[in-house]
Amino acid sequence: MRWFRNRAPDEPASLRKQMVEGQIRARGLTEKPLLRALLEVPRHEFVRARSVVEAYGDHALPIGHGQTISQPYIVALMTKVLEPKRGLRVLEVGTGSGYQAAVLAACGMEVYSIERIPELAELARENLAAAGYLDRVRLRVADGSKGWPEEGPFDRIIITAGAPDVPPPLIEQLAPGGVIVAPVGGYGLQTIYRYRKVDGELEREAVEGARFVPLIESEVGEE
Ligand code: SAH
Repeated sequence: MRWFRNRAPDEPASLRKQMVEGQIRARGLTEKPLLRALLEVPRHEFVRARSVVEAYGDHALPIGHGQTISQPYIVALMTKVLEPKRGLRVLEVGTGSGYQAAVLAACGMEVYSIERIPELAELARENLAAAGYLDRVRLRVADGSKGWPEEGPFDRIIITAGAPDVPPPLIEQLAPGGVIVAPVGGYGLQTIYRYRKVDGELEREAVEGARFVPLIESEVGEE
C-alpha cells in the first residue's frame, strides 16, 4: 500500500482511509461495496467542520439551519442494514447536506431524496454536483413524510430524522420485499429499526440506539 504511506496523513483520502479502518471496519462493518463508497465520497465537502481532520472525526457535525449529519459509523450502519444493491431505487427522507445520498449513489443506487428546508436542499444540490453525484440523485423540497408518490414504489427507504413512527405514506410507497431503515422513538433519542415488507405487512427489527434531529411533518393545509 505504498500510495497510502506516501500521502500526507491529513490529506482527505488518507483521512477517509483512517475513518473507514478505525471507525467502520474496526466496529465490524466489512462489506466491500459499503467501504468502497465511504472511501470514495468526500465527506469534508458536505459538512461544516473547522478543518478537514474534524470532518472525518468520529462524531456528528453541524450542517447549518440547526441540523446535523450523523457520525460516519451511523451513516455506514444505516447504509449496511438498508441492504444496498446496484440499480435499486431508494428514497431518502432528510437530504440535509447530501452526504448520505452520495453514499447511497456510490453504492450504485438510484437515489430520490426529499428535504423540507429549501436552503439545505440547495446546499445539497451544490455539494452533490461538486462531488459528481448529481446525475444519480434527484432532489425535491417538500415534506418527506408524504413520500414521493409519483416516483414510487421504492425498493428501499431511509429516513434520516427521528420520528415517533414510520409515516404511513412511506409504507404504502415501499415495494413488496422492500426495506425501510429509520430512527424511531421519542424526541432526541431513538432506536434505528429495519423494517421489511412481507405480504403487505412490516416486520421490524431493532438495530441500534441513536440520536437524530426530529422529522417535522407539515400541518394539514401547509405546502
Ligand atoms: N441525511 C443528511 C442528514 C439529515 S439531518 C445528511 O447526510 O447530511 C435531518 C434532515 O431532515 C434535516 O436536514 C431536516 O431539515 C430534514 N427533515 C426534517 N423533517 C423533514 C421532513 N418532514 N421532510 C423532509 N426533510 C425533513
